[in-house]
This record gives sequence, C-alpha cells and structure tokens, in this order.
Amino acid sequence: MSPDPLTEYRAVRDRVDGFAAAAEEGQAAWLVCRRGCDGCCRLRRSAFGVEVEALRAHVRTLPPSRQATLKARRAHPDVIAGDRCVFLDDAGACDAYAARPIICRTHGPLVLTEEGARWCGLNFAELTDDEVVQRVPGAAVLDLTRVNTLLAVVAARHRAACGGPERAPLDAALDGLEAP
Ligand code: SF4
Repeated sequence: MSPDPLTEYRAVRDRVDGFAAAAEEGQAAWLVCRRGCDGCCRLRRSAFGVEVEALRAHVRTLPPSRQATLKARRAHPDVIAGDRCVFLDDAGACDAYAARPIICRTHGPLVLTEEGARWCGLNFAELTDDEVVQRVPGAAVLDLTRVNTLLAVVAARHRAACGGPERAPLDAALDGLEAP
C-alpha cells in the first residue's frame, strides 16, 4: 500500500533537507545565511496545499500559548500588508521551522532553476556572477527544477485524495485555530 500523500510529502521534504545540507556544506565558504537574517521571510509566501496541510498539522502540536501568538501575529500590520510571513518571529526566526515548506529550505545557496542558477545576493558577496557559476562545484548544487517536479506530483496526489486549493498562503495553516 502506498503511503498517504502527507507522509509522502514529508519524505520528499526530508530528502530535500539532505540535499540542501550538502549544498550548504559545499558552498559554506561563501554563505552568510544565519538565524535572524529574515529577508526570505519578508513576504506573504504561498505553497502547495499539501505543504500548508503539513504546516497546519504542525501548528496544532504547538502549546496553546504559541498558537495564540501566531493567531495574534496574523493581525500584525506587516503580515496584513503582505510584508512579513506570519511565522516570522520578532527575533527573525521561524516559528514553524520544522514544518516550513520546501521553498523555505532552499533559499540562500546557489540552486539550479529553469531560468538558470539563482542565489541570495547577500551570499557570494566577494564574487562576480560569472565567478559564482564557475566556482561552485556541481556536486554541491540543488536542482530546484527536479525538486519542484517531484513536489508537484506529490501535491497533485494530495489534492486528488483530500481536495482543497492547489496552492494557498502559509497563513491559511492558522485557519480554524481557537481564538487566543
Ligand atoms: S515559513 Fe518560516 S522560513 Fe518560511 S517564509 Fe515563513 S518564517 Fe520564513
């Protein structure tokens, strides 16, 4: 019997974590990514429905006080304006780190996309764009196109089994929480 789509998604997520960790190790000399650097989180991010479902399941395992914090943060002007993810705390850390979507796990290092190589401009500061592409070894690069293809398959399976929108904003994971 094949695993349920949520379990399947978590397995993909764990594999991506392994590849992302290898990429970070291979590119470590040029990366300044660190806890508190929250440029990737200053937006209202969306993700596949299965990813929001995984976030929802995670949120419901949190203590009531943390759930209340998240629910209250949903009313923060920056969150309402779409300038801050609802899971970003005031110290620049992620309140849903263990369950954050795959896109959040691949920001920063150089990755391959359909449009070519992409990386955070804060990294590789001492290199030109050409030098970045030439010097980062292929073995330490995550192929985001392949990841997204696999993720889309799992997300479609989840949608066929459970319904819901193809994509949703991450704050939808807080829908239905009890009032603080
Ligand atoms: S889920 Fe976490 S890592 Fe992803 S954008 Fe929100 S705060 Fe940032």
